[in-house]
Parts: sequence; C-alpha cells; structure tokens
Amino acid sequence: MNKNVMVIGGGPCGLEASAQLHKMGYNVILIEKEKQLGGHLAKWDRLFPEGIEAKEVLQPLVDNINGVKYFLDTEVVSINLLDKEYNVILSNGITVLSKAVLMTSGFDLFPAEKKEEYGYGIYDRVITNADLEKFFATGKDPRVVENPKRIGFVHCVGSRDEKAGNRYCSKVCCATAVKQACEMKALFPDAEIFCFYMDLRMFGRGYEDMYLKAQKDYGIRFIRGRVSEVSETLEKQVLVKAEDTLSGKPLKVTLDLLVLMAGMQNAKSGIRIGEMISMKRSDDGFFTTKGSILSLQECDKAGIFYAGACTGPKTLPDTLNEARAAAVSIHNYFNKEN
Ligand SMILES: Cc1cc2nc3c(=O)[nH]c(=O)nc-3n(C[C@H](O)[C@H](O)[C@H](O)COP(=O)(O)OP(=O)(O)OC[C@H]3O[C@@H](n4cnc5c(N)ncnc54)[C@H](O)[C@@H]3O)c2cc1C
Ligand code: SF4
Repeated sequence: MNKNVMVIGGGPCGLEASAQLHKMGYNVILIEKEKQLGGHLAKWDRLFPEGIEAKEVLQPLVDNINGVKYFLDTEVVSINLLDKEYNVILSNGITVLSKAVLMTSGFDLFPAEKKEEYGYGIYDRVITNADLEKFFATGKDPRVVENPKRIGFVHCVGSRDEKAGNRYCSKVCCATAVKQACEMKALFPDAEIFCFYMDLRMFGRGYEDMYLKAQKDYGIRFIRGRVSEVSETLEKQVLVKAEDTLSGKPLKVTLDLLVLMAGMQNAKSGIRIGEMISMKRSDDGFFTTKGSILSLQECDKAGIFYAGACTGPKTLPDTLNEARAAAVSIHNYFNKEN
C-alpha cells in the first residue's frame, strides 16, 4: 500500500504532525519553502505566558522529525488528483504520489504598512510585534532608541477592523502585547508603557495572571480606546492621539517608540496551493474545515487535511494539538480506505 503523506509547511504544526505520522508508520514527505524549518516560531524570542525561550520549544520539534524525509527551499509546482491519489510535482524536480496531503502552511503577519494612519514604514520609530521579537533576540534595531522614556503598544492592527478587511480577532496579539510590554519594562525600567486596546482577550491558562502582573509589578498602563491619529514630531518622536473610552476624554501622548500588534492572516503561499485544487476559504480568508466542531482537520475534498494557523489564528499549544489531531484523522482515513 502507498503510505505516502505529503505535509506542506515546516512550521511548528508541520513538524509535530510529521513526527507523529512518522511514528505511526507513514512515509512522510515534508516540504518547507524557506531555507530553514520552524516557521514563525523560529522568529520569536520568548513565548507567553511564562516567557520560555522559543528555541526551547522549537529544538525538540525539529529533533523529533529524525527519520522524516524533508526538503527545504521547496515549493509545490502542481497538485492534481489522479484516481484517489494526489500527484504533487515539487520545485526540486521530485514528483510524489500521495494518498493524503496535510496543509500546515500557517499564516502571514498582517502588513502593517496597509494601516497608513499608524505610520509603519513612514515614521522612524514605529515597529511591529514581529520587529520587536527580533530586537529581543538580537538586541539590534535602529528604530529602538537608547533608553526610551515612553513606549506605546497598539492592539488590533489589521484585526477586528472592517476597513482592513479582517473582522476576526487574531487571538494571540493581546497576550503578545502584555508579554512584550513587561519585557520592555524589564529592559528599560525608567520607561512609561501604555497599551491602547479595544478589549483584552486573555483567554488562556496563566494569561490573566500575566495581565495582573503587568499592571501591579510592571506598572503598565492599559488605556481602553482606539488610536485615531499618529504623527511625527520634529524630534522624530511619535505623537499619538486616542480617545480614552473609559474616562470619555481625548488623549495625546508623545512616545519614543510605537509597537503595532499586527494580526494573523492566511499565508499567501498556502492560498496559492489551495487555488490549484479549489480548497474552499471562509469569509475571513482562512481555509474552511469540513465541520466547525467535528472534522476540524478535514477539508471537504477527500484526502486533504488541515492543521494549525492556516484555518485561523491560533496559539502554539492549539497548533500542536491540531497537528496531533490531524495525524489521527489521516490514520483513520487510511484505515477506512483500505
Ligand atoms: C507576534 C507573534 C507572537 C507570537 N507569540 C506566541 C507565543 O508567545 N505563544 C504562542 O502560543 N503562540 C504565539 N504566536 C502564535 C504562533 O506563532 C502560531 O501559533 C504558530 O506559529 C502557528 O504555527 P503553524 O505551523 O501553523 O504556522 P507558521 O508558523 O506560519 O508555519 C508555517 C510554515 O509553512 C511554510 N509554508 C507556507 N506556505 C508554504 C508552501 N506553499 N510550501 C512550503 N512551505 C510553506 C512557511 O514558510 C512556514 O515555515 C505568536 C504569533 C505572533 C504573530
Ligand atoms: S487578540 Fe487582542 S489585539 Fe489581537 S485582535 Fe484580538 S483583541 Fe485585538
């Protein structure tokens, strides 16, 4: 029997699913379009809620695919259904005939420059959550001045925003903002830190404690209200105007750094593959699963499965759980078919 399973995307989800499927005896072929494995996890420095290092999570996931055949810097050129099997032609010249294909193509960060009013790419001291992770990891970013005195975080950038075309909540950015605000306070103890939020979505275990700690131990100021305008002063500081919806008063604050909490959207590179075999996408742009409670890992096309952030914003624990659930769904599919 052909026990090939093609896994598309070598982020945390693809790594975990590949490891599980390999253990179950499947012949996994994992492809990653970048030159390294790890997806977005490889770009993060520390993870909420406890602040553990991202590499402490990534390294075991990479170690666990020992024995799995994987190709880096590789894309799908074409994918066609041929008599209950998918014929997948890869950019490295290899053709794989696979009974099951698992999409773990993940997400793209919302392009913050699309929200022109926040000045990303225009003003010197406006960065994104992803830029700040890189700063934490490398200690370098010319946009982060020495000893900033005031730092602001804007929540919901490109999420919950009809104008940006994304009405959904990206789930992880409130917790990321609180984590990053505390990390900045620890690095720059003299800095005043503000978080401009609409609602705080601190739904996971330990998240609420992290939020309380941010207020009590780190003195982070949470201001409920949308930022209406961002501009630059002659001294290259960032002037933020917002409405504090709790006090009902307009507010102006000059900052040395503004961090935009850009949300998650379905990865363009995953959508490209989806279009080759007409995989459905929902209004939010993410792939549509066969069911919304049961069959969460299945596509309505037999033999195609999903896991991770390609079906919606997700935390890492949820992503890894979906990877394992997808492995089980694929195993059941093979057993049903034979
Ligand atoms: C700023 C930020 C901070 C975060 N911090 C945390 C945190 O502290 N804790 C937490 O639990 N979660 C956090 N998350 C969420 C976490 O990053 C995601 O849960 C996780 O990355 C999802 O994994 P994934 O494998 O589904 O997708 P991704 O990480 O996006 O990986 C997808 C992989 O697929 C590859 N790929 C895409 N298309 C193709 C293709 N066509 N062919 C081949 N390969 C392809 C990509 O290159 C990538 O390697 C954070 C998210 C953001 C935005
Ligand atoms: S998690 Fe928070 S910041 Fe992110 S979209 Fe939802 S409410 Fe906004």
